[in-house]
Amino acid sequence: MRQWADDVVYFTNGSPLAADQREQLIARAVGVVDGKVIGLDIRDDQLCGVVVDGGGVVRRQALFVAPIFLPNSDLLVKLGCKVDENGWVLVDKTGLTSVVGVYAAGNAVNPRAQLITAAGEGSAAAIALNNDLVEEDVRDAVNLFRLGMPVPTLHTL
Ligand SMILES: Cc1cc2nc3c(=O)[nH]c(=O)nc-3n(C[C@H](O)[C@H](O)[C@H](O)COP(=O)(O)OP(=O)(O)OC[C@H]3O[C@@H](n4cnc5c(N)ncnc54)[C@H](O)[C@@H]3O)c2cc1C
Repeated sequence: MRQWADDVVYFTNGSPLAADQREQLIARAVGVVDGKVIGLDIRDDQLCGVVVDGGGVVRRQALFVAPIFLPNSDLLVKLGCKVDENGWVLVDKTGLTSVVGVYAAGNAVNPRAQLITAAGEGSAAAIALNNDLVEEDVRDAVNLFRLGMPVPTLHTL
């Protein structure tokens, strides 16, 4: 926010702020308002201020609220994919989950992924998935070959 505006205030909303964090904010001329946010002062559909515990109103024109990221991974979890302590599906560097043949990419596994990252992870997973399918085809073909089944068309030079 401070990259865009000179007049920025940080509401702790009751969460403790470490001394060094407070120092960083103040050094960057970001005002700090302690206490819980209990309401908004909105007039004519326009934000006018933020009401803090104790009744004080801090005049503001815009408010940004930090999002909470939650994985949308019900399907993967139902398939038995392991997740980390925060619920994000665990994958190796190709996108393979703990379930054989199941790959995942993007925000289901990585809350930090943005469009380009998610697309890159998707591409890597698609390549690994195709490799899996090719290897499966080869394994099946070798098994049939060993059983004496004829090879459909054997091209030779
Ligand atoms: C408000 C907001 C602003 C953002 N701004 C930017 C930005 O400026 N630049 C940027 O790079 N990124 C931005 N992002 C992040 C970006 O949108 C995501 O990182 C990206 O879309 C992740 O791609 P994804 O394929 O992992 O997930 P998604 O794009 O969420 O795609 C997952 C898809 O799977 C579908 N799905 C889920 N479960 C099932 C199921 N069981 N069966 C069938 N379909 C299912 C969902 O409906 C969805 O369509 C923003 C995100 C938000 C929320």
